[in-house]
Order: sequence, then structure tokens, then C-alpha cells
Amino acid sequence: MPPGFGNGTSSENNSLRHTSGTDKQLNGTMAPGFWIESGSRNGSFGIETSSKNNSLPHASGPDEKQLNGTLAPGFRKESGSRNYSENDSLLNTSRPNVKQLNETLDPGFQKESGSRNDSSQGNRMPDDNKLLDGLLAPGFDERSCASRYQSFLFRKTSLHKPSSYLLSKLRRYEDIHKRCGPHSKSYHKALKRLKSSHGSSGGCKYIVWIPANGLGNRMLSMAATFLYALLTNRVLLVNHKTDMANLFCEPFLNTSWLLPEDFPLRNHFGRSKHGYAHSFGSMLNKSITNASMEPPEPYLDLNLALGGYDQLAFCDENQALLQKIPWLILLSDQYFVPSLFMIPSFNREISKLFPEKETVFYHLGHYLFHPSNQVWGLITRFYQAYLAKADERIGLQIRVYHDKTTPFQTVMDQILDCVLKEKLLPEVADTQEPAPPPSRNQTSKAILITSLYSEYYENMKNMYWTRPTVTGEVISVYQPSHEEYQHFGDNTHNMKAWADIYLLSLCDVLVTSTWSTFGYVAHGLAGLKPWIWRMGNKNPACQRAISMEPCCHFPLSYDCKTRIEVNAATLVPNTMHCEDRKNGLKLV
Ligand code: GDP
Repeated sequence: MPPGFGNGTSSENNSLRHTSGTDKQLNGTMAPGFWIESGSRNGSFGIETSSKNNSLPHASGPDEKQLNGTLAPGFRKESGSRNYSENDSLLNTSRPNVKQLNETLDPGFQKESGSRNDSSQGNRMPDDNKLLDGLLAPGFDERSCASRYQSFLFRKTSLHKPSSYLLSKLRRYEDIHKRCGPHSKSYHKALKRLKSSHGSSGGCKYIVWIPANGLGNRMLSMAATFLYALLTNRVLLVNHKTDMANLFCEPFLNTSWLLPEDFPLRNHFGRSKHGYAHSFGSMLNKSITNASMEPPEPYLDLNLALGGYDQLAFCDENQALLQKIPWLILLSDQYFVPSLFMIPSFNREISKLFPEKETVFYHLGHYLFHPSNQVWGLITRFYQAYLAKADERIGLQIRVYHDKTTPFQTVMDQILDCVLKEKLLPEVADTQEPAPPPSRNQTSKAILITSLYSEYYENMKNMYWTRPTVTGEVISVYQPSHEEYQHFGDNTHNMKAWADIYLLSLCDVLVTSTWSTFGYVAHGLAGLKPWIWRMGNKNPACQRAISMEPCCHFPLSYDCKTRIEVNAATLVPNTMHCEDRKNGLKLV
């Protein structure tokens, strides 16, 4: 999300709680007295105890106690634990294999065409589905990362096929990564070059990704950085600290994308100034006085976080200079793909890789981001328990900034206005109406709510519990977790965030929040154009996105030649301003 919108850190102010069930609440909308100040934030909101108190999935119908009993044993225990290891999950005897999974899925789940995947459909080889039409390389150990080859079971057959050019580029990248990756001969040679400032770097070039902000921001910027690596034949290494441990599987076969612990520049990371000597500005100055730039710098710091000051790196004329530098250290929280798209040489290549422009994140996201076994457990247990059997799954992502300064009721009204007017969910009838008799034709919709808070879930659940729907549809409402505030540096919290994002991406319809990168990742992976609900009392309450691509909040916004500020959307075709951010840019 852009600066000035708060980052959820001021958890101390975030103390609005709700009272326990009253008749008034059961009637749907909440009375003014609903809110009470819980006083200062105490231990119960802290990181250690939060997983105990705040991680319980909500389901309509049973109370939390009943619900806890229905969850797989690993769900709650794991979320309380801070020390995960890949092996822990391998020991979990309830881990399904694909066969088991097929058998446990709802009948019809696999069969309906256009519904969830059926690997025997048409002439397609089963492996086509499993490998996402060739996007994924075969040969990975399936037990150490169950999600990689099982994800297709949870999704509809994709209408978006990767181009053969993208597939060959990925296979080539995998070869480069294996040859140059951590602990390879070439890697050690490149490290020597990094320390000595001269000599050969072994033919390998790297881009080291440094995280900033929340998980949504991080996933978007990792995907953009990977595209940059693909375009420039660099090797992507990611600096996942402990808070990102065990979120993702390794995406590249027989190597690692994790920056080794003993990487020499680690101590520089996170400092506000890595030193002017290695900044992009310094490189530009040197290039003016020393056109040949020999010998080139061993490394360069690029700051592209929140539209950072190194936007000139996106100009075509600077690519040749950048290409000479063996190590690029990139701090970014942005989906800067639209800015890459503005570079003429990259524009042609991106168009070849992605003939369908709005599938860049969709394909790269499915290639890179495979939930670890622990996170996959959270996702699949929740999905199978609460979502799989519904005829339709509606995901509502409710991201409220500034620690809930927007009143609860305003947000709730806006969401309801959106989903009812757009007919995503049915209206409720007068409570006096007799309930219709159960019928076989009755359709069901499961609503998945993700939010840091539980009030939206409570309200919607009560609305559909206390009144019948006018259509006779059966509506159930679920929320996997409510963390209350963004816990920085917390691995368990990030796992729940990743599980929430992924569960949203398994929905059939999505309503996401203005400016939220969390929502962008969810709809990007889903391959859906979401309805974006608008903050405040705006009319209409929500707007359908034109493209399923994420929005870049801070695109390159001036002409590189004239250095004059211009309207980014006019620079190249197939781009437009984002629905939820006037100055943002997205591919269409
Ligand atoms: P953005 O701020 O909406 O653009 O999304 P980010 O993902 O970059 O940062 C928000 C962070 O707050 C997330 O990464 C989570 O840590 C937390 N968060 C926000 N909304 C939710 C939610 O619905 N579920 C969970 N589990 N965490 C959330």
C-alpha cells in the first residue's frame, strides 16, 4: 500500500473490541453500543499469545469451542509453535496424497467441466494439469512440497496458458540458476569478485532482493524482481529473514533461491544508507565523467521501495550500465512490472513472454510461490472443511487502514452495498417469513472473509443466520483468523497471512480492498478481476477491475529523454491507471 495510508504498526490504538453475543447483534446490524474500548493493549494481543487467542477460524453455526474440535489437530498446535521444520510436516500422517485428495473431494468437485480440475479431461495429459501446462518443471520431491503438484486439484482448469516462449525462458533460467546458485563454483567466483572489486565474476550476475513492508508487498516485488532477472539473465537470490522462513517452497530445482547466511554484504542491509559509493546516483555520476565505467562496480544498491529515488533505473539508456554490474542489491516493495514494460527493449520481450498482457503475475506467481507444507496444511484443511462443498465461493478481503479510523458500520455498509447491488450475494428477507422447506435444488454459497478483525465476519454471519435469503440459497460464512494488527517480524503471523491470501485465490468471486497489495496477490493468483470496494461513503460502493494484473502504486512517471513528468498511462499501450489509485499503473 502507498505511504501515508498507515502500515498497521500502531497496534496500541487498535483496541476496539466487540461484546459477546446479544439479541441486538443477532439482528444483524450492530447497535451503537456494540463497540467498547478494551483499554490498553495487553498481553493477549502480543505475538506469543496472539496465536492462542486470535487464530481460531470462525465458522457460522458452531461456536468457537465446537469449531476447535472439528479442526485437524495440527492446525492450532502448529500456529502456536514458533519452530517449524520441513520434517515436522512430513511426519504428519494426515498429509493427503493426490489420490487421497481426489477421493476426499466432494463428488462433482472434480467432474464438472469448467469447475475444479479433472486431470482426465479431453486429450490433455494428466501431467499438463499437474505441471500447470508446463509452467512447473517436473522432478521435484513431492513430499517436501506437497502444494507444488497438488495445487491444480483446488483450481478450475485455467483459461490462461503460458506461452511456449515463457516456458523455454523459464527452463533456461533454471539452468542458469543451477549453474550460478548458492555454493556453486560460479557463485564462489562471483563472491571473490564482490570482495576484491576486480577479476572475473564467473559469467554469473545476480539480483539480491531485500524485503520491505507486508507479505503482499513482498510477494509482488519478488515477482517483479524475478521478471527483471529473467529479462537480464541474472540470478534471483532472496533475503528471507526468519519471519519469512517456511512460507514458500524452493521454486528452482536442485538449487536454492535463498541468499546464503554468510553473504558478505548482509551487514549493509537495512541501513538507511548503504553508502553513496555504491548507490545508483553515484553510478550515474561516474558514467558521465567516465563513459566506459571500467572497471565496473562489483555491486550496486537500488532503492525502489515505495517509489524510491532510483526510478531512473527504469530508463532504457541506463540498462547498459546496469548490465555491467555483477551484483545488484534491490530494496523494493513494489510490483514494478509496468515500469519494466515502459523500457522499449523489455517491452518487446515481455510482450513475447506474455502475449496475454494481464497474465504476468498470474504465471509468475504460480511459478514462484508454492506454500510450504505447513502453510499448505492450513490452506487445505480449511478449504476442505469449510469451502469445498459450496456451489460457489465468495472471497471478501476487508483491509482497513489507519487502525480502523473508518467506522466499522461505514465499512460494513459499503461492503454490503457492493455485494448486494452487484448480486454477488443474496438479499435477506423479513425474519417473519417461514423458512422454505429444504430442497435438493438449493444452492449454497460459502463466504470467506479475510480481515485483521472479526467484526465483519460476526456481522455477516449474523445477518445470514437470523434471516432467510430471498433466493433460498444457503449461505455460510467463515474467517480463518483475525490477527488484530500486523505483527512485524512474526513467522506464524505471516504463515496465516499467506494462507488467507491463498484461500482467497481459491474463490470463484472476489471483492478486494482499495490499495491493498494483499488483495492484489489474491486476485492475481486467482486469475480473477475482482470488485474493489471503495473506502468511505463512495458511490458506487465498488468497481470491477478491468485487468487481473496487480497495480504498481509508483510507476515511472516521466519521460526518460526529456526528464519531464508525464502521465505514465500515455507512455506505452496496454497500460492504464489503476481503478483504486489514480497515479498507479497496471497492464491490461
Ligand atoms: P497491504 O498493506 O494491504 O498492501 O498488504 P501487505 O500484505 O503488504 O501488508 C499487510 C499485512 O497485514 C499482511 O501482510 C498481514 O501481515 C497483515 N494482514 C492484513 N490483512 C490481513 C488479513 O486479512 N489476514 C491476515 N492473516 N493478515 C492480514
